[in-house]
Amino acid sequence: MNRFITVVAAGLMATASVAIAGVTEEDLKNDTANTSQVVTNGMGRHLQRFSPLETLNKDNVKNLMPAWAFSLGGEKQRGQETQPLIYDGVMYITGSYSRLYAIDVKSGKEIWQYDARLPEGILPCCDVVNRGAAIYGDNIFFGTLDARIVALNLKTGDVVWNKKIADYKAGYSYTAAPLIVNGLVITGNSGGEFGIVGEVQARDAETGDMVWTRPVIEGHMGTLNGEESTMTGELNATWPGDMWKTGGGATWLGGSYDAETDTIVFGAGNPAPWNSHLRNAGTPTEGNKGDNLYASSRIGMDPATGEIKWHYQTTPREGWDYDGVNEVVAFTDKSGNKRFATADRNGFFYVLNREDGKFVGATPFVKDITWATGIDDTGRPIFDEANRPGNPADTADGKKGEVIFASPSFLGGKNWMPMAFSQKTGNFYVPSNEWGMDIWNEPITYKKGAAYMGAGFTIKPNYTDHIGSLKAVDPDTLEVKWEYKNEAPLWSGVMTTAGGLVFFGTPEGEFIALDDETGEKVWSFQTGSGIVGQPVTWEMDGEQYVSVISGWGGAVPLWGGEIAKKVNYLNQGSLLWTFKLPKRLANAN
Ligand code: CA
Repeated sequence: MNRFITVVAAGLMATASVAIAGVTEEDLKNDTANTSQVVTNGMGRHLQRFSPLETLNKDNVKNLMPAWAFSLGGEKQRGQETQPLIYDGVMYITGSYSRLYAIDVKSGKEIWQYDARLPEGILPCCDVVNRGAAIYGDNIFFGTLDARIVALNLKTGDVVWNKKIADYKAGYSYTAAPLIVNGLVITGNSGGEFGIVGEVQARDAETGDMVWTRPVIEGHMGTLNGEESTMTGELNATWPGDMWKTGGGATWLGGSYDAETDTIVFGAGNPAPWNSHLRNAGTPTEGNKGDNLYASSRIGMDPATGEIKWHYQTTPREGWDYDGVNEVVAFTDKSGNKRFATADRNGFFYVLNREDGKFVGATPFVKDITWATGIDDTGRPIFDEANRPGNPADTADGKKGEVIFASPSFLGGKNWMPMAFSQKTGNFYVPSNEWGMDIWNEPITYKKGAAYMGAGFTIKPNYTDHIGSLKAVDPDTLEVKWEYKNEAPLWSGVMTTAGGLVFFGTPEGEFIALDDETGEKVWSFQTGSGIVGQPVTWEMDGEQYVSVISGWGGAVPLWGGEIAKKVNYLNQGSLLWTFKLPKRLANAN
């Protein structure tokens, strides 16, 4: 309705720029600077998760108090990994089992909710989570566990369009927040443990019509406006035989956008199956035959066409489930260099050049890495071949390869939970976990809709007193400045503020603020269930607010081996908490 009026008005005033109602590209671009709203995943499409707000600071954070809490209701709980969005007086959150809620941001009262009716037989690998929505124009977009993308009207929750990303019966699903760039809704896919093929898709936000697709495994063909565009990579350059056809590389964590180089960056998950010997990755071969591009890589793409501009493979010859999907954050270092940073599942923190994705430097951000002894000057890992799970074909009965201990575990030095960058300190704050695993390979053949792994594993803690460790990493010197230890594994997002605070949550239910310089705890609040969500902050009526969702779940209780048993006392729940610093207490000590 608003759109019709706007378009007519724009048509009459030929010199006026065509404005669309609701959230614009300009709003998305200015999301970090505009502290009255949060309209992107990552509090800015660079995914820095930094707020310039300093009303709330180290001195007065002790006066931060609950304003309201919202229950997601129903019997459906499990992991709540969403990041709230705030626009025009309404907070939008996604929930487990593909639900979306619109809530009055002042009172916490529900306005509407949408529940995707999921079919029987969906195959989410790692809990029934959803990591957030995206807003553009009058609509809000989110993905569902049956691998669909839905556009809903912001005001009413009515379905505007609903499109299929991929076939859930083949193991595809969807959990990431979509990315919006220049009117395109850009999504990846999930399902890396089922022999799917990772792909990035861009749709017209108005109609949901596909504009381009870009598979991320070499040999597969991309499309643009319904026609074939270009092949990804070069057929069989780094994959043997037909293995690329079910090669994995799920783009399951979504992407970031660097406006300065007009580049979207998506990561690709592990190559499939896990048994690296089946992909020529088990032993070094001539050239880079077993690298299995572009699995376990970060990929820079043109947002208009989906053409690949560059790639950087964090784990070539991957054999430990070290997905390459973790978020790539655009930032400017202390010397003024334009960089990307990413903290990988494989335990290394990388700095890349923003222009071409070229390797700048890397450092371990967890202790005790076994699979590589370092990263060489070209950015290639220096493998420790003794610490690769063995080849079942080398054993007498061919059923189980040599068991090795690998660290980090397959759940990663860091998993999906987003780190934050502080424009104030110039440091990254990385939620990490210190754990390893016994891992072995087994024979496997592909079968549609069945797990395609060829591996077995048990995760174990590396230390008796902690697994979780939030680390401050200086991206200029690549030094870890401090760490904050937590008994249970960290699985929540991090946020930084110009007020000098680092917010995150723990599975034990604490919502915590640390001093960004020292790592000292300056505030905490018990939310009643484990936190695996992503905090945000904004300003309303001259007061600063902070929100986070509490609801224990995610991959750890399902896949965590010995650690899952250690944390099985934690209660589930589904409460969205909103805190504020009352005006009268902003200057109180
Ligand atoms: Ca994986």
